Amino acid sequence: MKTFAALALGWLAVTLIAATVPAGGTAVLMYHRIDGSVPADPVGRDLTVVPAAFEGELRWLHDHRVRTLTAAELTASLARGEPPRHAVVLTFDDGYEDAATVAFPLLRRYGARATFFVSSGFVGTPRHLSWRQMRAMMAGGMEIACHGTRHLDLSTLDRAGQLREIGHCVAAFRRYLPGWRPATYAYPAGKYDATTLSILESFGFRAAFTERPGLATSLTRRFELPRRRVRHDDALAQFETLATP
Ligand SMILES: [Zn+2]
Repeated sequence: MKTFAALALGWLAVTLIAATVPAGGTAVLMYHRIDGSVPADPVGRDLTVVPAAFEGELRWLHDHRVRTLTAAELTASLARGEPPRHAVVLTFDDGYEDAATVAFPLLRRYGARATFFVSSGFVGTPRHLSWRQMRAMMAGGMEIACHGTRHLDLSTLDRAGQLREIGHCVAAFRRYLPGWRPATYAYPAGKYDATTLSILESFGFRAAFTERPGLATSLTRRFELPRRRVRHDDALAQFETLATP
């Protein structure tokens, strides 16, 4: 009976602590395109943030002294057990050319940094980044990270297929981006399975990002880190909510 009472008290203490300590965490924001020409189709439109809106978001972060970390920096501080305070991670998926021509110059203007998740198979194709542009972005403090080779849904592939999709991206980045090493990964469409996690670890990746909403904390599984999507129609007030834990 004494043991039961002790257990009950312990449980009560844990519940009270959990209720009083703020959840905290770091917002990892997900963009796709920063472009003034907005596609007419609803999906393309939703994935496109106009440059003036993006600049407003960068200005807000700058004015509120919110630090911008790369995904690799966030991962390293979570691994050290030192979750960053007053920080956000900006990520851009798919490797569209506007990452270099629009987003990168604006990030530089506001002293911000970001992570670009690029599918290696599209590099150098029309409207996508070139290796030269990606090298310049790395030199400017940005993180370039893998987003598969052909942007395939990994959860639909067998082990050999997943190895190809992840491995070709790693090989291409190693070859064309001097100094690049596997650090962070973003799952196309946010999809993966248990096989994916073991393959990423075997290549030396430290963390991977889904498309599930939420905040990254030291308790989040490092290969299943959440991200919050920034949408075309988000007003600045909405962005503030997304960027704040
Ligand atoms: Zn994608």
